[in-house]
Amino acid sequence: MTKHTQPETMQFQTEVNQLLNLMIHSLYSNREIFLRELISNASDALDKRRFEGLTDSVLIEGQGNPEIDIAFDKAAKTLTISDNGIGMTREEVIDNIGTIAKSGTKAFLERLEADQKNASQLIGQFGVGFYSAFIVAHEIELITRKAGTDESSATIWTSKGEGEFTLAETTKEKAGTTITLHMREDDLDLLNEWSIKEIVKKYSDHIAYPIMMAVEKPIMPKEGEENSELKTERVIEQINSAESLWQRDRSDIKDEEYEAFYKELTHDFSAPLSWSHNRVEGNTSYTSLLYIPSVAPQGLWDQEVKYGIDLYVQRVFIMAGSDKLVPRYLRFIKGIVDTQDLPLNISREILQNSKTIDTIRQGLTRRSLTMLESLSNDAEKYAKFWGQFGRVLKEGLGEDHSNREKIAGLLRFASTVTDEESVSLKAYKERMAEGQDKIYYITADSLNTAKNSPHLEIFKSKGIEVLLMTDVIDDWMTGFLHEFDGTEMVNVAKGDVDLGDKAEDQEAEKAVTEEEVKLVERMKEVLGERVENVKISKRLTDSASVLVRNEHALSGHFEKMLREAGHDVPSMKPWLEINPKHPLLVMLDKTSDAELSSDIAMLVYEEALLLEGAQLDNPSEFVARLNRLMNRK
Ligand code: ADP
Ligand code: MG
Repeated sequence: MTKHTQPETMQFQTEVNQLLNLMIHSLYSNREIFLRELISNASDALDKRRFEGLTDSVLIEGQGNPEIDIAFDKAAKTLTISDNGIGMTREEVIDNIGTIAKSGTKAFLERLEADQKNASQLIGQFGVGFYSAFIVAHEIELITRKAGTDESSATIWTSKGEGEFTLAETTKEKAGTTITLHMREDDLDLLNEWSIKEIVKKYSDHIAYPIMMAVEKPIMPKEGEENSELKTERVIEQINSAESLWQRDRSDIKDEEYEAFYKELTHDFSAPLSWSHNRVEGNTSYTSLLYIPSVAPQGLWDQEVKYGIDLYVQRVFIMAGSDKLVPRYLRFIKGIVDTQDLPLNISREILQNSKTIDTIRQGLTRRSLTMLESLSNDAEKYAKFWGQFGRVLKEGLGEDHSNREKIAGLLRFASTVTDEESVSLKAYKERMAEGQDKIYYITADSLNTAKNSPHLEIFKSKGIEVLLMTDVIDDWMTGFLHEFDGTEMVNVAKGDVDLGDKAEDQEAEKAVTEEEVKLVERMKEVLGERVENVKISKRLTDSASVLVRNEHALSGHFEKMLREAGHDVPSMKPWLEINPKHPLLVMLDKTSDAELSSDIAMLVYEEALLLEGAQLDNPSEFVARLNRLMNRK
């Protein structure tokens, strides 16, 4: 049996203590998840051994069948979970169990404190599964031997989960890990065949390795034998189906099974919005099972982002969340792809330059976009999707030129018709006004600024819908979106207004009077270098003025944002359009007072700045001008 050296006592990292306390209290109603976590760790360890064994066969020597064993002992009040996976060295035990090395852990603790209701979901997302065993155990003993090391170099770790753990050397006959839980009195009810089987079925049925459990079965007395004492025998049973869901026939799989598989795969406890299961046969054959989650995961916006599709080769797990399988803007798609057309010992370099991977990537991209198209037929579900992932999808316009039209079709915007981001470009086109031949939009830093922009006045008066774009990424995005389905997309705050109504344009041109020309000259004189030009506006009906940029300039708020982020942005001056019918300009027209003229001209300009959400260079001068104007009699 095991030979222990003098154990060494070590302290848990403070965060571990906090975590343990919180976990034990907030997760008790979900206590059975501990088994899912330990089984999933065992399965990971088996994956690793298989994968590393492909290139280093020493690691799989003497392994036997990869499997997970569960045993319970009512008398000893223990539950034991063993695997013949990769195992750990002493250093690895210290690093993995006892510290929380992962960067997300602090955030996890904060979230857990704030949101104890969803604790079990958080546990999965943050991967702090091992410690969940303390929910049901008052003491844990873990014996592990790393594959490729010898019998006497095993490690035993024990802890009561109260601030410290002990470590000692020991021996272990086979490589792998055995975890013994000394169950709390309140949890002894779990130590029976029925409960354990039920938990395994519920959470771990699809684990790719057999989960075996020794159970006592009564031996039926033979006929004629005296039935004095009931004898039992130990029988080892496989208690999970260990079958890869994606290998089965679509028509045999129930929705609940797809959902359960999703939860197991992602540790996301909310049901997916949709999935798509397909087998592709051809030069490159593969099976894929893709999901659209309903909730954005932690870290979706991190620089080093996690992708969601796992790669399998001939049902052997190769790599989690590979960034080679879909473009970055589809990083939120979860699922698996399994192919026979790659070597099992595939290296990162091969993945990098593989034609097979390219083909699969194209296929999965198309499949994902089609899946989103189908989802968009369900307005409610699609709104959910859009709220969580719309912004990620927009990145695709810049990233994936070959699918631009498809991606554009999936976009949703607010508009002058609805505040909700629910208007597709297709729906917009379908209800375009008579004679309208362009898709109009405006970008701003908030819905309010967008809705109240003077740029919209002429459109409102003519009953033309304008899309309201308020996402920081929209200005960048529209740089890739010049047209949709043959119809030009036009930013109403840039360039001259063109409502596609030629006759009216000419009339407006003619209508510029001599007084108006003078008005423009007086404005220019006061504003000088502040603006590129001053023009009589065709787009204003109510406001006094509006700033307009040329088609190639950045929009005002985007330029501001880039500046604030420290970028050196070349300044392209806007021009100012004025509404000669507005009282301020009527007043300017009538007066010959120099101070008053200059005050009005400046105010007209400053109002335009304020209306686009910009800040004034000198607010106190603005206030002084305003007061002078009001006090004038
Ligand atoms: P996660 O599984 O998300 O990494 P856990 O808390 O469940 O987080 O496990 C922490 C680490 O401990 C694992 O990443 C792994 O390195 C190690 N570990 C846990 N259980 C085993 C096991 N049965 N065999 C080998 N290593 C294990
Ligand atoms: Mg784990």
